Amino acid sequence: MRITYACPACDATVSIDGITARSTLDCTSCAASVQIPEDGIAPGPPPKPRRCLVCPSTELFVRKDFPQRLGLAIVIAGLAASCLAWAWRELILTFAILFGTALVDVLLYIFMPDCLSCYRCGSRYRGEGITGAFGGFDLETHEKHRQQAARMRDAARTVPAEPSHGP
Ligand SMILES: [Zn+2]
Ligand SMILES: [Zn+2]
Repeated sequence: MRITYACPACDATVSIDGITARSTLDCTSCAASVQIPEDGIAPGPPPKPRRCLVCPSTELFVRKDFPQRLGLAIVIAGLAASCLAWAWRELILTFAILFGTALVDVLLYIFMPDCLSCYRCGSRYRGEGITGAFGGFDLETHEKHRQQAARMRDAARTVPAEPSHGP
């Protein structure tokens, strides 16, 4: 199992392979270490997470392990090429490019493997049979975690200010 997460201490993106129940997650940037919860990993084989290993959330969802930037790059390249073809009045070529771009995106989506993602902290889990009992993305659960995060940010902001000095 491979995990990719944002270090809670320094926010660096950390990627660690070969995670088992006895692993610790050590940040490669600031060396802060995250303790994996005792019941966090079903031993397998292959090992898979029962919950998020980085934050207190127990809710994960299945998503395609699709590099969003690559998908976006393909769409932009396709649009640019079709605009050129349009400028040259190559009508068939224009639509061929647009159709081809959409087809590549669909094929990539179909053949990309699944991975697990945490609603709360966004950490990703990859590996064979990783999805386990978790289901797809649920907007309600996402919204719950988003509002929770917003409340925590508000709470942090309204911490009483230091008493003012002087009269
Ligand atoms: Zn760190
Ligand atoms: Zn998490």
